[in-house]
Amino acid sequence: MSGNLNSQTTQEHTSHKVDMKDIVSLCKRRGFIFQASDIYGGINGFWDYGPLGVELKNNLRDWWWESMVKCPPIGPDGEPVQIVGLDSAIIQNPRVWEASGHVGGFTDPMVDCKETKLRYRADHLVIFIPKDSSEPWLAAPKDDEENIAEKRIKKFGKGKSLSAYETKDLTAIAVQDFDKIIGPDASKPGTLTEPRAFNLLFESKTGATQDTTVYLRGETAQGIFVNYKNTLDSARVRVPFGIAQIGKAFRNEVNPRNFIFRSREFEQMEMEWFCHPSEADKWFDFWIEQRKKWWLSIGVNPDDIIFRRHGDDELVFYSKKTFDVEYRFPFTDPGFGELEGIAYRTDYDLNQHQEYSGVKMEYIDPITNERYVPHVIEPAAGLTRGVLAVLCAAYTVDPNRPSGMFMNFHPRMAPIKAAILPLTAKDGQPEIARDLYMSLRNDFMIELDIKQNIGKRYARQDEIGTPFCFTIDNQTSEDKTVTVRHRNTMKQERIALSSVKSWLHENLAIMAQG
Ligand code: ATP
Repeated sequence: MSGNLNSQTTQEHTSHKVDMKDIVSLCKRRGFIFQASDIYGGINGFWDYGPLGVELKNNLRDWWWESMVKCPPIGPDGEPVQIVGLDSAIIQNPRVWEASGHVGGFTDPMVDCKETKLRYRADHLVIFIPKDSSEPWLAAPKDDEENIAEKRIKKFGKGKSLSAYETKDLTAIAVQDFDKIIGPDASKPGTLTEPRAFNLLFESKTGATQDTTVYLRGETAQGIFVNYKNTLDSARVRVPFGIAQIGKAFRNEVNPRNFIFRSREFEQMEMEWFCHPSEADKWFDFWIEQRKKWWLSIGVNPDDIIFRRHGDDELVFYSKKTFDVEYRFPFTDPGFGELEGIAYRTDYDLNQHQEYSGVKMEYIDPITNERYVPHVIEPAAGLTRGVLAVLCAAYTVDPNRPSGMFMNFHPRMAPIKAAILPLTAKDGQPEIARDLYMSLRNDFMIELDIKQNIGKRYARQDEIGTPFCFTIDNQTSEDKTVTVRHRNTMKQERIALSSVKSWLHENLAIMAQG
């Protein structure tokens, strides 16, 4: 959190560890996020965003759009870089996904457990191998490996401790050794199958007779590549320039988990930056810097964000270099989980589409007449994962208030910027409150709440992270002042009713700057 008021309280409260189940339960109780089809028992990997969740998600989405398209960063030459927007269809010609490699290659290696019928991503399993005995090897999921391994060792390790084991990724283990492994949820060794490819693209059918197989897009990026030519020919852009898109993506993830972190329907914010091959390194560094600044501008603690360069063994074959932006989620702590990948994709995608479509993807430099296929730098972020990071970062335990916690949202992210609360429902207070609400609602997302006792209403605003509450009381009609309650400090002060709008503009801005 970067706000003045915020940073003071963040330091006081961060010693309390946040539990994921408290975040999930708050999200449901207050209307941020519900499981999809809740009344039917839900559906694995899908989530619905409630009244506050959609505001939060839109705030993050709009801030990305503003930072990319409306007010893009200043480039190395001192001028704003050029980025235009796009909203492409979710279903495209299936050839798009053949060219991109998703139909043939968008697969995860999967292992099934014959005992429990559970399925795991092979690259997500770590195997704990006893250093000096022939006892069973134990599998544990990567994002919580030590915790789970410890429990498994207690059960199967005959008094051994974690230090008596060495670890290896499942993908590094020969199939003939699988017989020694007890799966993450199994009770006996030898029940994991050999890894098999599993395609992540969702299929559907199109046409009156439903005879054409199509795919729900697995990423927003390909919609950008297939519109590169249209954009170049219609918008007044020249290389280097970017095309940005925000939207849904679908992956039939084998093991959706950790709330909205890994879901089957999610949203991405992707930008493809087209540049001359000789300038790709320079732009790669530029975008790493910009994306660092951006992630730190939404109220996450800098200590909980890392920028990690992929090792050579991790790089996809077309990428020359990739950085991941990772956040320390409660379920990855002390490790980190990916929020964004920033990849130098070379000319791979444009070349693939040139080959499959037969349409030339060359750019002709209007000054030098040089012809070339531009190289691409891609900052590809998860919008819904970003929402989860913002929720986790904001959750602040505080035993000194009735709610026991508050959401320390950056003011830009807060779903509601201020609440107007008449102390009682009589003495003309609701009327004054309504007038104030009408005068503010064009400028801010405001909540007018006249029900319940004031303590409960403050508690609710704390839980939904509203930066300021304006309370109308008996004194208001006498001296035309209201009480302002600051979310983070709970301090109260009186200000003139007529100054509320300018006060709110000013104080949200101060809080945002930090
Ligand atoms: P992962 O390794 O976690 O599966 P990825 O490297 O395949 O992710 P990309 O294809 O680079 O992800 O997609 C860009 C971003 O989209 C990711 O950084 C992440 O924020 C988001 N994303 C990818 N898959 C999911 C998912 N199943 N649920 C939510 N967000 C996702």
